[in-house]
Amino acid sequence: MKPLKSVKLIIIHCVANKCNRPFSVENLIACGKAKYGQCSYHYYVRRNGDIIPLLPESVQGVHARHYNYCSLGIVYEGGLDERGVAADTRTEAQKHSLYELLKALTAEYPEARIMGHCELPHVAKKCPCYRPSIEYADLQPEH
Ligand SMILES: [Zn+2]
Repeated sequence: MKPLKSVKLIIIHCVANKCNRPFSVENLIACGKAKYGQCSYHYYVRRNGDIIPLLPESVQGVHARHYNYCSLGIVYEGGLDERGVAADTRTEAQKHSLYELLKALTAEYPEARIMGHCELPHVAKKCPCYRPSIEYADLQPEH
């Protein structure tokens, strides 16, 4: 795994599994390894609010093309409704844990801007099905 150069961005993703079917930590790690030869993300936020560290913050993830060298990747469980349609399926526990995790990370990396995967330039995805840049306006750097 490559070392992370700096943390300029904290990028939020969803697993894109149906929210009524659990997606295990083992499954998430296995998917990354099958696709990229390593785990893709730094943190996993489960439906019950558990925060699972996956990669050390000192190494690169594989979650956002062109930005892996300077970003941390956080992924929440869900992102599709029961019918399989992209939706913000975060539970209250997930919302709370995401906010607490981001609060800790932005204290550690004050220059880091929080963005959703879909908010990056040239990304035609719905992931993570909400607008982190707006929702976490109070945690963003001044400029
Ligand atoms: Zn994504």
